[in-house]
Amino acid sequence: MEQKTENKQENKTPEKNVGHPGHIPQTAGNDAGVRPPRILAWETTAACNLACKHCRGSSTIHSAKGELTTAEAKKLLDDIRETGTPIIILSGGEPLMRSDIFEIARYGTDLGFRMTLATNGTMITEEIAQKIHDAGIQRVSISLDGRERTHDIFRCIPGCFVDSMRGIENLKKAGVEFQINTTVSRFNVDELEDVHAFTKEIGAAAHHFFFLVPTGRGAELTEFEITPEEYETALEWLYGIHKKTDLQIRPTCAPHYFRILRQKAKEEGIEVTPKTHGLDAMTKGCLGGISFGFISSVGEVNPCGYLPVSAGNVRETPFKEIWANAKVFNDLRDYSKYLGKCGACGYKTVCGGCRARAYHETGNYMEEEPLCSYVPPKFRTKNE
Ligand code: SF4
Ligand code: SF4
Repeated sequence: MEQKTENKQENKTPEKNVGHPGHIPQTAGNDAGVRPPRILAWETTAACNLACKHCRGSSTIHSAKGELTTAEAKKLLDDIRETGTPIIILSGGEPLMRSDIFEIARYGTDLGFRMTLATNGTMITEEIAQKIHDAGIQRVSISLDGRERTHDIFRCIPGCFVDSMRGIENLKKAGVEFQINTTVSRFNVDELEDVHAFTKEIGAAAHHFFFLVPTGRGAELTEFEITPEEYETALEWLYGIHKKTDLQIRPTCAPHYFRILRQKAKEEGIEVTPKTHGLDAMTKGCLGGISFGFISSVGEVNPCGYLPVSAGNVRETPFKEIWANAKVFNDLRDYSKYLGKCGACGYKTVCGGCRARAYHETGNYMEEEPLCSYVPPKFRTKNE
């Protein structure tokens, strides 16, 4: 599953992407309140030409029954426009498997959205790259989990690294900006430095690191899950590299990065402000249901693609109403409902823990994040 392509402007002028709040009412008792969505990932199709080991959607070559039609897709964009102008990530499966993808992208561009595309890159011929450009798609994210050998093993198709690289070259020729998304797992945790160097070498605008969430086919990958300690080390490495690299770096679905950032800054005697840490000072770890949402190929709305708790279906309820009123969203916006270590944690408003990992571990999305090694004071024993 290709999930998130974010905005180049994010570190500079995030307000530009927020749009106006429309008429979304505030909900009493919510710490985060109801804010307009800033980024929406839309699984335009569940079909995919690859069979990656960690796929969130367990995608296959076939589309799911009842995927949104072109007319329904356009209506969805009209409905979303009622909430503002979030960044729209056309995702999948593999969005290029959908024959009307450029018609949808152009429709969104004309409505004023920043349209982006999350793809495995293997289908981007010169002609497709030009169509991407002409539809007004402003950034394409391509998944690369390592150099050729690592990537092909993880993506389960020999030669797909070479195909993705060809896609990148075609995007460059067409003048389309691209970023690299790397899924972090035990499989490649020792290769992150190398894949980051490679990302720079090929001229990407950004490098986003996705931390594996065990769901879909990824649920079978327990041997590839990293431990809380490896997770901590990887995030500390990211904090270090963030300061040195000129590429936009973003850890995704690694909410406790924002706890580590504050702990490290404190050790260094630096106050975390937009001036010292850019957008990192203003955003939080898990944005699911707060400013990020996911729409499935059949119109189900979820906090994110890894948390299969339905907030409603856009075929039955306008997106704006779902966004404002769904129980799961309002739960996630209310920090007083967070449980376990996350509930007692002083960093919960900047981190929040991964609600999807909590859900897959315990069945309750408000429970504590299982992969965080931080112990809040209330949970420490006398000897800690
Ligand atoms: S719940 Fe987890 S996977 Fe979903 S957006 Fe939050 S951090 Fe990412
Ligand atoms: S305990 Fe929960 S809220 Fe606190 S840093 Fe860890 S994951 Fe984040």
